[in-house]
Amino acid sequence: MKYIDEARIWDLLKTGRRAGIEDIAGILRKSRALERLTLSEAAALLRAEDPESLNLIFEAARCVKNAVYGSRVVLFTPLYISNFCSNGCVYCAFQANNTGIERRQLSEKEILEETQWLLSRGHKRILMVAGEKAPAGTSTIEYYTQSIRAIYSAKVGANNIRRVNVNVAPLSTAEFRELKRAGIGTYQLFQETYHDATYRQVHPYGSKSDPDERLDAIDRAFLAGIDDVGIGALYGLYDYRFETLALLMHIGHLENKHRVGPHTISVPRIEPAGVAFTEQVPHRVSDGEFKKLVAVLRLAVPYTGIILSTRETPAMRNELFTLGVSQVSAESCTSPGAHTPGGNNGNAGTQFTLNDHRSLDEVIDALMARDLIPSFCTACYRTHRTGEAFMNLARPGTIQGKCRLNALVTLREYLDDFASSAVKKKGYELINRVRETLDEEDKKRLSVFFEDIAKGARDEYV
Ligand code: SAM
Ligand code: SF4
Repeated sequence: MKYIDEARIWDLLKTGRRAGIEDIAGILRKSRALERLTLSEAAALLRAEDPESLNLIFEAARCVKNAVYGSRVVLFTPLYISNFCSNGCVYCAFQANNTGIERRQLSEKEILEETQWLLSRGHKRILMVAGEKAPAGTSTIEYYTQSIRAIYSAKVGANNIRRVNVNVAPLSTAEFRELKRAGIGTYQLFQETYHDATYRQVHPYGSKSDPDERLDAIDRAFLAGIDDVGIGALYGLYDYRFETLALLMHIGHLENKHRVGPHTISVPRIEPAGVAFTEQVPHRVSDGEFKKLVAVLRLAVPYTGIILSTRETPAMRNELFTLGVSQVSAESCTSPGAHTPGGNNGNAGTQFTLNDHRSLDEVIDALMARDLIPSFCTACYRTHRTGEAFMNLARPGTIQGKCRLNALVTLREYLDDFASSAVKKKGYELINRVRETLDEEDKKRLSVFFEDIAKGARDEYV
């Protein structure tokens, strides 16, 4: 696979010197100074297994997360619009020759209904998800742009969706341009596995079967002007340490070529999908290994967001909230139309099983119980703080003040409009506590925002 030097990765993992506690502490000092780690340093952390080293790694990850992102965690929710697919990914229920599920592509009206349901729960950020085109007429660029327009057009009270991120199959450069024009935030695409032979085995047919073509798609998205891209690996297909170093190698390539790395990294673990492959995951990643790889990614690329989905259990998510993730989903479903079953959407097949079924209110409660500020902020991409501009603000920590203020404003909106009374009470207390830590100027700005919210204004930000 292009840009991925497998021999080098194995060399670092197998023959590299096992780091002693002093070496680990030295690497972590570099991380705490918010410097990027080399591949060899990241490999040393991934090789650590003793509890003392692991505790130091987790502690440093918490510290780096706080230094770069402060205590805010951004919330989003996926919206599946089609489960038709022409590919043969062996781990996915949407694979083309799975006749056991009902297929459906949502109409504009159905997408509007789903979006309105999500808005009525308090969501502001959507990740639009679809299978790859098949049969003709499904998952076309026209369908995607129409769907994005439908999502943005939905309204509940004074609330609307403020950011649509997209996770769909690779597109041509011209199609990526159209996606950008439709007003997307991040374009997300997971390489699934960076191990060439494994990639070819688990993607036996369809356009996804060429690993280099998939890798190229991210470069094409950049060239088409999409400077917020998200990458990821599907953990469980191959050795987790290999995939983590390969992700870092991919980031190195993007930074060299486009002067900016990905906006986010996703770390999905394979879940049961009702297909034979997921009953015996070949490289299942244990909870301990998973926590370690998230922490190492946090330390290795401090300025890249890490996304955590509801594939993970509430207990695992609660732990990872403080360990370095910066975006989490809530109230997810993996089948098109599942939020509004009363409508015409029927029971389309699900892609895989989820493990965190808490409501948005409960997830917000869990975040606040850990002194984290739930945020629905979407200011950056609407003020053109994306790509390189975002990185230039993130590196000196300038972005953090804006994030905190916007997090408090969007949390206040959520509490006023959607929260249960218990969460409202805890939320207002949290806001008051955080308010006390702001400087006088930000305190004044926050008061002005809150007065506006009380008068009915929504969607103000810095
Ligand atoms: N169809 C497009 C693709 O594959 O890139 C985009 C959407 S696909 C529905 C989103 C992601 O779901 C895939 O990239 C894959 O990593 C993940 N996925 C598929 N099957 C899964 C499973 N059994 N467990 C967890 N994640 C899975
Ligand atoms: Fe299709 Fe994506 Fe599922 Fe593969 S992972 S079968 S491309 S929906």
